[in-house]
Amino acid sequence: MDLFPGIEHKIKQGGRVDESEAAWLFENASDEELKGLASIVKHRYHEGGIATYLKMAIVNFTNICVARCDYCAFYKLPHEQGTYTLDEAGLLAKVRYWVEMGCTMIGFNAGFNPKLSLEDYGRLFAKVKEEFPAIQLYEMTVAEFMFYCKKDKLSYLEGAQMMQSFGSKWIPGGGAEVLDENFRDRHSPGKYKVKDYFTAQGDILSTGLRSTATMCIGFDETLTERLNHLRTLRLAQDQWQGAIPSFLCWTYKPYNTRFGGQEISTKEYLRWLAVCRIYLDNIKNIRTSVLTKNEDALIGLDYGANDFDLPTEDEVTVKAGAEISQDFEGVLNAGRKLGYTLIHRLPLV
Ligand code: SF4
Repeated sequence: MDLFPGIEHKIKQGGRVDESEAAWLFENASDEELKGLASIVKHRYHEGGIATYLKMAIVNFTNICVARCDYCAFYKLPHEQGTYTLDEAGLLAKVRYWVEMGCTMIGFNAGFNPKLSLEDYGRLFAKVKEEFPAIQLYEMTVAEFMFYCKKDKLSYLEGAQMMQSFGSKWIPGGGAEVLDENFRDRHSPGKYKVKDYFTAQGDILSTGLRSTATMCIGFDETLTERLNHLRTLRLAQDQWQGAIPSFLCWTYKPYNTRFGGQEISTKEYLRWLAVCRIYLDNIKNIRTSVLTKNEDALIGLDYGANDFDLPTEDEVTVKAGAEISQDFEGVLNAGRKLGYTLIHRLPLV
């Protein structure tokens, strides 16, 4: 049965698709139909033909991690050869380099290092902020934040208040991958429980700190597991009254990981991106992933995305096989050729 006319009518009237309709669209709608529906939802928030971007680096300051996710090629256990933790001078030197190269935002992503504490993070990033006050910093992901709160015996509220007292503004929603309990049990049982992830993020937001939403697809997750991620996120965003400004979806890189596997196609990524835009009708900015899709990510602007990063480095994805292009004009031209006016924006506030 062709459900498209009914779903299209619903979306045009400002209605919401449910999970079964989102599944039907992903499995049955044509690319053109998905693009059309994603554009309708996107244009509730954004003008047509315009997309925004910024240049950013992801700095990894410790590769020591005890979470042991089977899809990760980055981490080392504390006793293994090749571990590192940058000290303050090393971290500042990295940030300085990327700021001089034109980055206006730096994200930090690191392992769960049992030798560090939340207070260490707070003090370290207070220094970075002091030296680079105009740069937007994503100090740590929600997943890292949860680990250090538990290790240091702090409630999430106490942890968020501590980070705020050091001047933090953002604890973005990284480390989410697929927010489904079965997926987590298969791949990273020691990282967190999904319910707990949303509790932590809710507590972060309640203090006035900002956060974002992310997803990574292309492991062995089922469509139901993917939709569970979107369902719980949309529900939480409703409860948080739209506090999450952006959602970024990227793709798993399988090289050098214990889990292995194969990369999903760009077509599958784009179709899923469109479903995300259609389903997550309460998130203003849907971002496409240059980090894992390079120039092809710009096609995502036709599938509901309105924003993207030009990343300059990220050891986590590079270790798993990502190739980060430094040909930024080449990436931007891919979007211009599709007819988009690309505007270099300030970091989201
Ligand atoms: S994905 Fe993150 S939490 Fe999991 S093992 Fe790698 S560094 Fe650790």
